[in-house]
Amino acid sequence: MASLDELMALHEHWAQANDCALKHTATRPVFGDGNPSADVVFIGEAPGKKEDETGVPFVGAAGKFLAEMLDSIGMKRDDIYITNIVKYRPPNNRDPLPEEKDACKEWLHAELALINPDLIVFLGRHSMNDFFPDERISNVHGKLLIKKFPHINTTHFLPLYHPAAALYNGGLRKDLLDDFKKIPVALKRIREK
Ligand code: URA
Repeated sequence: MASLDELMALHEHWAQANDCALKHTATRPVFGDGNPSADVVFIGEAPGKKEDETGVPFVGAAGKFLAEMLDSIGMKRDDIYITNIVKYRPPNNRDPLPEEKDACKEWLHAELALINPDLIVFLGRHSMNDFFPDERISNVHGKLLIKKFPHINTTHFLPLYHPAAALYNGGLRKDLLDDFKKIPVALKRIREK
């Protein structure tokens, strides 16, 4: 089980060791946040303005919506761990470039290996495509994907729409709220294995 000290040491190491070009334009790196012993890790895309200001992931509008959805399934932010594939805010919140994602990949894989969750929830296509490059989020959202990767022990993955995309789109919002209910179902299934 990972301790907070180990996790912070990992982040401090990778904040120095990564060569992501975005570190020159962002205010600061935004480390993953939450419970280092969490059974579920959520992976978003990249920090936005609020996250760049505070150094904490998902504290803006998308984060508030996420907190509401966690509440709807009886979970709190303290129960989970949340991080991003890219640790620095892209200028004007543009999509991260492939080389920017690659530059933070080892960092992400190291934090996932340390936390070793039962379930990884992808928030949006960017984080899903990091693991499943051939899948489309519109086809697989809400479906539990099972796969063994060389760099982590976690084998169960649930892709969801990104809360920022669903915030102002009624159809996506409903899908995301419905898909969220699959998190406790997936955890139960994994624990009963
Ligand atoms: N969107 C993300 O993907 N990550 C954040 O930290 C905030 C918004």
